[in-house]
Amino acid sequence: MREALLAIIKDEKRVITGNIEKQYLSDNLGRRQGTAAALVFPLSTEEVSQILKYAYENSIPVTPRGAGTNLVGSTIPVGEGIVLDFSLMNHILEIDEETFTATVEPGVILEDFQAVVEEKGLFYPPDPGEKRASIGGNISTNAGGMRAVKYGVTRDYVMGLELVLADGTVILAGSKNRKDTSGLDLKEIVIGSEGTLAVITKCILKLIPKPEASLSVLVSYDSLKSGIESVRKIIKANLNPTAIEFVERKVVQLGEDFLHIEFPQPDAQAYLLLTFDGSRQEIETHLAGLQNVARQSGAISVLELQDKELSANVWRVRGILVKAVEAVSEQEPLDIVVPINQIDTFINFVNRLEKEVNMRMISFGHAGDGNVHLCVVRGDRDEATWERELDANLEILYKKAYELGGLASGEHGIGLSKQKYLAEATAPANLALMKRIKKSFDEKRILNAGMSYDV
Ligand SMILES: Cc1cc2nc3c(=O)[nH]c(=O)nc-3n(C[C@H](O)[C@H](O)[C@H](O)COP(=O)(O)OP(=O)(O)OC[C@H]3O[C@@H](n4cnc5c(N)ncnc54)[C@H](O)[C@@H]3O)c2cc1C
Repeated sequence: MREALLAIIKDEKRVITGNIEKQYLSDNLGRRQGTAAALVFPLSTEEVSQILKYAYENSIPVTPRGAGTNLVGSTIPVGEGIVLDFSLMNHILEIDEETFTATVEPGVILEDFQAVVEEKGLFYPPDPGEKRASIGGNISTNAGGMRAVKYGVTRDYVMGLELVLADGTVILAGSKNRKDTSGLDLKEIVIGSEGTLAVITKCILKLIPKPEASLSVLVSYDSLKSGIESVRKIIKANLNPTAIEFVERKVVQLGEDFLHIEFPQPDAQAYLLLTFDGSRQEIETHLAGLQNVARQSGAISVLELQDKELSANVWRVRGILVKAVEAVSEQEPLDIVVPINQIDTFINFVNRLEKEVNMRMISFGHAGDGNVHLCVVRGDRDEATWERELDANLEILYKKAYELGGLASGEHGIGLSKQKYLAEATAPANLALMKRIKKSFDEKRILNAGMSYDV
């Protein structure tokens, strides 16, 4: 295989066979390791196309990889395959201020892209917690994040994709046009497909004008229940926040310890962290509305995070929680989503279950769109006990989520970790259709085979 890959790549440094570093054989959690015969760093669509042609002709499995920040095992390769790492295809090719679009390679890192775009007075709203993820990875997982409540998710900002199909054919799906009913919208089926349908080599993204101002606000409560209950009131009052995150005091402490910084209002039991953006006038109006809702919901305080450093620190604590929990103990991160009117019912259920089964369950997340990040913590359980108890509790948690009309994943994807729960809750006809679509894109099942719905 090495000779064949070198004939395409022509650069020994970009073709690794043997002693592949562990990080390339796993996901962000690093708990499970896969195997691969080769790790390749392509530089161009042409190289990707030739590699896939070779893999297809020889039925070799291929695992596309962005920044490897996923939490669900979706970059764990199988068999004697090829890991296609996109970290060197990391160029912003164009920022078109006439059509409000950007064209980028898939390995561009989200926060680098956002910084460049914002310097030009433009804005790319998707804002998942992990800012060092790649745009290609964000598209393949349809990443959500903090600003989804106002601006939507990654899918809403993808206008076109250059794709390399499993047999090496290169296609462009979508364009810079704002509307499209010209045949089937092929890019939409690839977004969120976790590398199972095609490999993304170029992305045309929608940009919007950068909001004039932005302000975050921390609302403190004496219980998570009153915090969560006020979320619907905030939405109903049409305050149009960019983000509504919830987090409990006991969870904040983990972030404080991890980062060695202090979070304000330490006497509260729970917080809602909101951001408003737009014109200064709009923000003022929405803040006044928030004060009203907070008073009616029994909030302890409403703290405007005018100080830039304080605001950044509060968001850093919120953003670091998955890693902060990870630093304390092994954990299973879930990102169950429930309809927004069920979020308090679900969180209350989790809190009761935590006590009943004596297993630590840390929840926080996107209150504005019902997406709960729930870390189920191992603590000092031995391997066998952890596996047994985790399995039993996950069954209970997913069952409850489904009863409430929820889904297994709101934004992290299914990968390898949640396949069982996807299968339990998805109608057989839907699963069969997903597999037929997989077959028409990738007849030989070489792309991320065995991942997500493809079992
Ligand atoms: C601390 C932390 C916080 C997080 N917070 C959030 C959050 O708020 N919201 C959220 O949505 N996610 C979050 N995540 C999860 C993760 O960051 C996202 O899933 C992200 O979109 C993955 O991007 P990546 O570049 O790391 O992709 P990878 O992890 O490398 O890959 C993810 C999937 O995309 C596929 N893929 C990657 N590149 C390509 C390509 N070019 N073509 C085809 N397939 C490709 C892979 O095969 C894999 O299936 C968080 C993760 C961490 C560690």
